[in-house]
Amino acid sequence: MILVAGSVNIDFAVQVQALPSPGETVLGGPYRVSPGGKGANQAVASARAGARVCFVGCVGTDDHGQQLRQALDAEGIDTAYLRSVADQTGAAFVTVGADGENAIAVSSGANRALQASDLPELGGVTHLILQLESPRDAICAFAQAAHRAGVHITLNAAPAQALDDGLLRLVDLLIVNAGELETLCGPQVGRDLESQLKVMAGRGPHAIVVTLGADGAAVWANGQFHRTAAFNVPVVDTTGAGDTFVGVLVASLPHMDLASAAQRASAAAALTCTRSGAQISMPHSPAIEQLLT
Ligand code: ADP
Repeated sequence: MILVAGSVNIDFAVQVQALPSPGETVLGGPYRVSPGGKGANQAVASARAGARVCFVGCVGTDDHGQQLRQALDAEGIDTAYLRSVADQTGAAFVTVGADGENAIAVSSGANRALQASDLPELGGVTHLILQLESPRDAICAFAQAAHRAGVHITLNAAPAQALDDGLLRLVDLLIVNAGELETLCGPQVGRDLESQLKVMAGRGPHAIVVTLGADGAAVWANGQFHRTAAFNVPVVDTTGAGDTFVGVLVASLPHMDLASAAQRASAAAALTCTRSGAQISMPHSPAIEQLLT
């Protein structure tokens, strides 16, 4: 079973011609309200790819919290460890440009309440997925417990933040986009991808996958560097592509090697780009298999 611990948000999204510059107001189309949050998105992507998933996180006691719990339940995800707390449910305000690029501001709300004691017993859990939208203390405590229990740990170090090696040393698989990799490496490491990967591998993770948008992904494992091309699809909205990639990759790990799992994740993420929204646009297993054949 995959345990996903992290954020769960309600997304408010509006489509505009071009993303607003600082200080600018742009007029957009109708807004859409849908379930999101990096943690919940990755849980949904994993479940749709065929994995058994349990989600750990916090929602508020408002209507949005109820709605998000129901959305996860509807995917067959175990929500027994989704705690309701007296706060607003987390919310993300997403602006999507005509080219599919997006800009997102997040109000964390209830997500800030996640704590070490929220972690369930790890019996039956083989893989843990973490991101950086939750309190760092909780993330580190979860990683330490999972490491002790021999659970495979994937850290999606998003949104971009610097990290100390204490957490990185516990991580089996690090997944980042190019910007997040640059933030992790710091300014002293050049922009060459292979050099950045070598530096990060020296800080702990056994394997690293870097997502590169329309340029696909790069995989670093056992000292070997491997590139996966992106699938050529008509792009409508890239929201949720990174989360789909993470969720599907980890769901695939028990069944194939890392390079093949990255390929399957890439197909799933491309399909997410062909439709608007985060969770609503994530593919189920048959559609992923079809794109791969
Ligand atoms: P993030 O959304 O976290 O910044 P990326 O933009 O790197 O992540 O996208 C994650 C993955 O989604 C990529 O590795 C790729 O597989 C897929 N993807 C993203 N943009 C496109 C695109 N324009 N066409 C096809 N696949 C894409």
